Amino acid sequence: MFRTIKVTLPADAALIQTALAFNKACQIVLNYGSYRKTRSKRALNRATYRQVREALPHLPSALVQTARDEASEILRRNNCAATVKKRLSVRYDKRTFKFYPDQNRVSLTTVDGRLSFPFKHYDYLDTWRGEYTNAQLLIRGSRVFLNVQVEITDVEKRRESGEVLGIDRGVLNIAVCSDNTFFNSGHLRAVKGRYQHLRCGLQRVGTRSAHRKLQRLSGRERRFALNTNHSISKAIVNKEFNVFALEKLHVRRSRKNGKRFNRLLGSWSPRELRRFIQYKAEAKGKTVVDVDPRHTSQRCSRCGFVHKGNRHGLRFRCGNCGFQLNADLNGARNIGVLGKSEYLRLFVNEPIVAPEEAMPAGVADGSYKPPSSLRGS
Ligand SMILES: [Zn+2]
Repeated sequence: MFRTIKVTLPADAALIQTALAFNKACQIVLNYGSYRKTRSKRALNRATYRQVREALPHLPSALVQTARDEASEILRRNNCAATVKKRLSVRYDKRTFKFYPDQNRVSLTTVDGRLSFPFKHYDYLDTWRGEYTNAQLLIRGSRVFLNVQVEITDVEKRRESGEVLGIDRGVLNIAVCSDNTFFNSGHLRAVKGRYQHLRCGLQRVGTRSAHRKLQRLSGRERRFALNTNHSISKAIVNKEFNVFALEKLHVRRSRKNGKRFNRLLGSWSPRELRRFIQYKAEAKGKTVVDVDPRHTSQRCSRCGFVHKGNRHGLRFRCGNCGFQLNADLNGARNIGVLGKSEYLRLFVNEPIVAPEEAMPAGVADGSYKPPSSLRGS
């Protein structure tokens, strides 16, 4: 698993001069590559190395090489079209940088030789420990940043326990989990309604200050939706499950859903929720699997009977066995069962278990009672 750590460095003249020289080196290679229509690192190196060293005698040879690598990748991306490297940045690899999070400093190769730079300590530096594989120095105006890529290797994959939590995403309930937890959208909808009300009033006013106020509001609404996804994904990932199953949102389906979600929930996005769950799950060595969304809302999670008529609005009622449940919870349980076989497929030699094994206790012999919070809903 890779993560990027961002630290701020002092705006040192040596760093800025290094970035200027690096960009020039990169540009010489880009010009040659687009002129000769080549992106091969070997061909670029043979043709440009001496020219770059002569033009930029202070740029260390290892940086001349990473500049050539970066140019080669830019040429590959844009099919050898003529390009100007505008962004002031330097690519560092294991030979040219060393990151010391315990001493809050980084050592970098520059036009003035190898130098050490301090940075402020952040807690996430302790969270993301591992092998620091490469880095990018970025100059923005008078500010200097270093993005360090770290490969985290001590995240153990807990494969032995395949307990799968099914998660159904929807409008009325943002997420329903197969372990009977509901994250409803009431608060989100209430906040959206409030913003909409304010927006209508301001649009009617139509002055410039009303327009500015509108922009501020949309930012605030967006941050609220973002925060909702952060807290829901955190609560889900902290559960005692190692595998999380979500419906794959198909392009057509999601566009339809997108409109529906949008009308009801403003800037809240189910895709973002999925991204957050994945990100936080990976950090804990847990797994996220996608399942086929077909029939998950029409299928009985108890007997497997699939029929359109099984669904009565918010309620699921099986036409075959008479099983009744909240419709979203029924969907989440189906997603959990599908997720389990999907997860087991990741390990080729293991058999796919029968769906019965993933049913809640008591379902098979009919003694299952839904939790009191769900009865009559
Ligand atoms: Zn049934």
